[in-house]
Amino acid sequence: MEVITVSELARKMNLKANALIGKLMSMGMMVTINQQIDAETAEILASEYGCSVRIVSLYDETIIETEKDRQEDLRPRSPIVTVMGHVDHGKTKLLDAIRSADVASGEQGGITQHIGAYQVAVEEGTVTFLDTPGHEAFTLMRARGAQVTDIVVLVVAANDGVMPQTVEAIDHAKEAKVPIIVAINKVDLPEANIDRVKQQLSEHGLIVEDWGGEIPAVEVSALKREGIGDLLSTLLVQAEIMELKANFSRAAEGKIVESRIDPGRGTVATVLVENGTLKVGDSFVAGIYPGKIRAMFNDRGQKVDLAGPAMPVEIIGLDGVPDSGDPFQVTDGEKLARQVSSKRQELKRVEAARNVKKVTLDNLYDSI
Ligand code: GDP
Ligand code: MG
Repeated sequence: MEVITVSELARKMNLKANALIGKLMSMGMMVTINQQIDAETAEILASEYGCSVRIVSLYDETIIETEKDRQEDLRPRSPIVTVMGHVDHGKTKLLDAIRSADVASGEQGGITQHIGAYQVAVEEGTVTFLDTPGHEAFTLMRARGAQVTDIVVLVVAANDGVMPQTVEAIDHAKEAKVPIIVAINKVDLPEANIDRVKQQLSEHGLIVEDWGGEIPAVEVSALKREGIGDLLSTLLVQAEIMELKANFSRAAEGKIVESRIDPGRGTVATVLVENGTLKVGDSFVAGIYPGKIRAMFNDRGQKVDLAGPAMPVEIIGLDGVPDSGDPFQVTDGEKLARQVSSKRQELKRVEAARNVKKVTLDNLYDSI
């Protein structure tokens, strides 16, 4: 819940605090200068003076201005995909099957690292998967304003059909306005009933293509690793329709997928680059922390020097552990990174202090 003190609001509105206190009193609210009022009250109050209230987050106040991309600098980028569906319908198995379908993985001996996201290359292109399946990761990232998913793969087991969490996933994707591609899984089972799945999906507003609708549905067996190529092609076709593009030649920005303290390497974080190209040596701000890229690794644990749009990389060189969903942005030099992050840390401290209800002489007398 956003709050603001009367004195702060008065300062922002260029008014004397006493004037606001008087106004609030006439509205039937007894407040003191340091008292907090909620956003709704602030809005009503501001409208009395012809002002409007905009609620900004910690990061809005410390936005690092960047130039707008020119149309001619934009090039197609890979889609970023989240896998959702009912428990036990095969999300994890499918993500494993997709990962092993990578044409490049054979050459590397298939050594894969779990860094929270990975890329798969097929002949027609590359697809990025967030490999924390499930609705929580999706809704958590979204709640943080970190909507990075372009397409949702909805896994429905053909023997089980549409279940409560399938419906939940459909609702989440619809709410986020993210297109859905259905993966009808476990088609290897004798009790698989594909038509029943399509029927049930239609009851929830998803009409598949071969029923005359718009929703692509692909039959797969994650267990037998069948239909994976089809699924990847369908994702790439969808990406083309969506005209997903990014500027590869600017300073990188993206989101933190996950971060942790590694006993050998210190703080490591997975960054999903959304725009621009990240380079070793770049200074950056990740959430409230500054840093400088000392080394980067791809999803196979190989050292890389560059990471372009839709490429997840593990980075080393952070000054703290940012949260999943935190914004990541390269800055023009170390100094700016430090300035922005210290400002954010300060704002965060203020925010934290506000949320603790302190009993001071002030509000003690207020309540009498
Ligand atoms: P999740 O909860 O959605 O992540 O589901 P899992 O990937 O853990 O799979 C749940 C169970 O279904 C496991 O026992 C898998 O081996 C099994 N399973 C997953 N995909 C298939 C499939 O295509 N065919 C069959 N027969 N079993 C599968
Ligand atoms: Mg799972």
